[in-house]
Amino acid sequence: MIYLDNAATTPIDDCISEAMAAFLKQNFGNPQSQHWAGRAAANAVVSARDKTAHILGCKPEEVYFTSGGTEAGNAALKGVCAAHGKGSIIISATEHPALIESAEDMRKFGVEVIYVNPDNRGIVSPQTVENAVKDDTFFCAVMYANNETGVIQPVKEIGEICRARNIFYYCDCVQTAGVLPFPTQYCDGIGISSHKFYGPRGFGAMYIKNGSKINRFISGGMQERGFRGGTLNAAAAVGLAMALENAENNRENNNAKIKALRDEFVKRVLQEVKGCVLNGDKTLRVPSNANISFEGCDGANILFLLDLEGIAVSTGSACSAGAVTPSHVLTAMGLSAERAKGAVRFTFGKYNTIEEVEFTIGAVKRAVAKIRNNKK
Ligand code: PLP
Repeated sequence: MIYLDNAATTPIDDCISEAMAAFLKQNFGNPQSQHWAGRAAANAVVSARDKTAHILGCKPEEVYFTSGGTEAGNAALKGVCAAHGKGSIIISATEHPALIESAEDMRKFGVEVIYVNPDNRGIVSPQTVENAVKDDTFFCAVMYANNETGVIQPVKEIGEICRARNIFYYCDCVQTAGVLPFPTQYCDGIGISSHKFYGPRGFGAMYIKNGSKINRFISGGMQERGFRGGTLNAAAAVGLAMALENAENNRENNNAKIKALRDEFVKRVLQEVKGCVLNGDKTLRVPSNANISFEGCDGANILFLLDLEGIAVSTGSACSAGAVTPSHVLTAMGLSAERAKGAVRFTFGKYNTIEEVEFTIGAVKRAVAKIRNNKK
């Protein structure tokens, strides 16, 4: 089996699952409890928060554990909207649904949602953001790297524009944690998700700059300093911090290895398969991503044929009510519906090998030839 869907999720590292299993057995206390069992769990959470803060480049009290990237995006956007009431927010048209759907929810409460489009390389220019700012704009979300194309955004410049205008800048770093250094100094909020860097699924963290105007998202007990009620999954916090540390410590090596595999794959596919094109900027992209459109093919059919050969990839298309709608990311970049529908996302990870790349190139050729022949 070949797994080339590392942007969707990554396999948990053995050392992480083993450490979490041991923790779950030995350390069952509720971190809020006032006795020895609670203290042991709370100490582990303190240590996990310290490590996470150190890597994010912020203070431990600016780190909030969440259930993942989706919750972080919801909490930041809705929490800031709740604190401001009316006004406008700027959202890049290529954001993850965690931000787009949250923005649409807030529209129903009277918030004006302004979308900013990328150019045809997938880049949202700082100028576009600046032009969209209104007197009443209080929030902006432009992600660090896009999950479908891997394209990296100019977050430093966008952050500076927002800071100068007192706009809360949220940067979804789900696809860049452990890949690029965190842009924390330019942001007011950041979200990460541990299953994207070989940690546990269903857990994440969020940075919220001290002093930000934001309301709590989940009401309940005093966990996460009252910002997010609910008994904390201490084992997952331990797993996240460990996975983030491992990812940071091995960042350069992993990036170099993954980039070499991805570059070989892209070069060969573009050379050996007629009528295909790489989507998104050619260089300003994370090392793992290859988003390729195949002329005359549906990405969904390629995915199906590759799956039959044991290869896991993804398409950006969403299936709603039985109809396939082309990716909102690729269409926002101005790509035709046909090119967007023909796109397949291959995302490489640290466990892939050059032999897997070789096999996949052959399988892609077979799949594309079959689909095109069937159409004749
Ligand atoms: N943001 C981005 C860019 C993502 O790629 C994802 C997941 O694919 C999310 C947010 C959501 O993260 P989670 O699965 O932890 O909810």
